[in-house]
Amino acid sequence: MALLRAAVQAVFFVVMPGAFMAAFSGVKSIFLAVSEGSVLELNSFVAALLGLSGFTVLFGRFFCGFACAFGTLGDFVYWLSGLVQTKLLRRKKQVQIPERFVPVLQMIKYLVLAVIVTACAVGIYANLNQYNWNPWSVFSFLTSLRFTLNGYIIGGILLAAIIVGMACKERFFCQFLCPMGAIFALLPQFPFSALQRDEENCIKGCRACSMKCPVGIKLEKDGFRNGECIGCEKCTGVCPKANITRWDRKLVRNEMLPVIVKAVLLLGLGVLLRLVR
Ligand code: SF4
Ligand code: SF4
Ligand code: SF4
Repeated sequence: MALLRAAVQAVFFVVMPGAFMAAFSGVKSIFLAVSEGSVLELNSFVAALLGLSGFTVLFGRFFCGFACAFGTLGDFVYWLSGLVQTKLLRRKKQVQIPERFVPVLQMIKYLVLAVIVTACAVGIYANLNQYNWNPWSVFSFLTSLRFTLNGYIIGGILLAAIIVGMACKERFFCQFLCPMGAIFALLPQFPFSALQRDEENCIKGCRACSMKCPVGIKLEKDGFRNGECIGCEKCTGVCPKANITRWDRKLVRNEMLPVIVKAVLLLGLGVLLRLVR
């Protein structure tokens, strides 16, 4: 599964790197229209927001777990940081942000979302934009192989700081800062899209799935119906009793097929929404 996930992430990183940016531009379009008191236009950004939100309601945060380029960047940086620290620097454990701070830090992304949305709604977002502070724009320059800051000095510094955070905590940006992640976490999801854990079949005292979760979900307490779950399925791979499953995995008895089907559906949606380059 880890290999399949890496392969799916690599494909989406190459063909659909701007999906996260497009969806978030949709959020900004909505609140800019609110501030101007104008009729909301169904532009490509709003369509991307609606499309990815609909996909998330149907299939959980598959986009975050398998397809978002910024999430993939986070996974790559964290993996590389682990490799450097354990193999080159011979550290026993990778540097980590202590788990006790995680629940509080996860709240910051809602604040980031609120600040951006308020700035759009009161009409000052365009003024803020003149300072070229946006790290996602710098990321989009890089994914389109334009290795220039293009005047985005503050954006470049912020992106560098985010990358340092990504090296210290798995899914640092997704958990703590991503405004789009805040929206996805707040969306309702169909019950059938969530993983399920047969607790009665669990090994006594086992917490392997919770320990593996990159976003610190305590499955024995929080369960899978938790907006923070990014749908990465890492918990499923680590369970020694194959105890974590979902209806589609039971149906085909092949853990890879549902992932491939969802990836193909998402790619099709990306083509429809013109997110595929
Ligand atoms: S939380 Fe944000 S950055 Fe992370 S994978 Fe989801 S949309 Fe992408
Ligand atoms: S609960 Fe499982 S699928 Fe959800 S984020 Fe944690 S490891 Fe990934
Ligand atoms: S890893 Fe498997 S057996 Fe262990 S607690 Fe999680 S679901 Fe139960």
